[in-house]
Amino acid sequence: MGKSKVLIIGGTGYLGRRLVKASLAQGHETFILHRHEIGVDIDKVEMLISFKMQGAHLVPGSFKDYNSLVEAVKLVDVVICAISGVHIRSHQILLQLKLVEAIKEAGNVKRFLPSEFGMDPAKFMDTAMEPGKVTLDEKMVVRKAIEAAGIPFTYVSANCFAGYFLGGLCQFGKILPSRDVVIIHGDGNKKAIYNNENDVATYAIKTIDDPRTLNKTIYISPPKNILSQREVVQTWEKLIGKELQKITLSKEDFLASTKVLDYAQQVGLSHYYDVCYEGCLTSFEIGDEEEASKLYPEVKYTNVEEYLKRYV
Ligand code: NDP
Repeated sequence: MGKSKVLIIGGTGYLGRRLVKASLAQGHETFILHRHEIGVDIDKVEMLISFKMQGAHLVPGSFKDYNSLVEAVKLVDVVICAISGVHIRSHQILLQLKLVEAIKEAGNVKRFLPSEFGMDPAKFMDTAMEPGKVTLDEKMVVRKAIEAAGIPFTYVSANCFAGYFLGGLCQFGKILPSRDVVIIHGDGNKKAIYNNENDVATYAIKTIDDPRTLNKTIYISPPKNILSQREVVQTWEKLIGKELQKITLSKEDFLASTKVLDYAQQVGLSHYYDVCYEGCLTSFEIGDEEEASKLYPEVKYTNVEEYLKRYV
């Protein structure tokens, strides 16, 4: 069996551009939706052209033109959507309902990976903090539509993107590591899971032709990357050869700080609350057959220390 042809939607996005690279690197014929709404956004157009020069095909289409989605989907075996889902940037998760319809109508798709790539919404839809819960609720709406349409799927739960979480030593609102003082969430001992976004893309592409991942949720939880905030800070301290001053932020003070934030920031902050104070990402067991680094031991994933070296 040859390698599947892949359509990536949201291919210029933060994760989407990595999915395109991983798809090309793993030898898949790769198609990228080129939305006319991009217009004269020169950075996006340049990125698309560079992908074209690396062998990708650009497919004109738009969520405003349903037939264009159907035609794009008909070109491939696998569809991966990386449409935006971070409120402080853009949040378009429900737009995927149109894509689900298009995939159903096209009828040829062997695997669909919707825009998930975070905490598993099925695990936390009842307990996640408001208003961040909206992200999980919307991802569940999309899942239900996929399953009702009988579309073969894989859901990739990528835990924490390293750029957002490790970059700021797990401090909300920071994406560069402190060199003097760090805010510690509660006792700082709740474990979370951090993944280089390039590795997320590599693992996601690995799943698409793998019968073991059909109609399953796959978790990217590589053992070396399961660390508490204190362990992340210690790793950074070792790299810079300096101990940081630590200020503890209690759960109550953290929650009180949400009051002054706008809605998009509150959504982000509630994800941090679930991860850092509730330890939600490590609150359940997963089997080896659902964990990406166990399924694909040949992938040399980036560990936390290696990732943090980029900031030294
Ligand atoms: P981005 O904000 O980078 O956006 C991705 C793409 O969405 C854009 O490049 C654009 O595609 C497309 N898009 C945006 N608006 C529209 C629209 N109106 N119509 C059609 N397409 C649109 O997304 P991210 O990479 O940050 O997020 C991807 C996924 O990863 C989401 O599900 C998100 O929840 C998840 N995530 C997880 C994190 C974690 O820590 N686990 C952190 C961040 C995100 P185009 O290229 O066509 O312009």
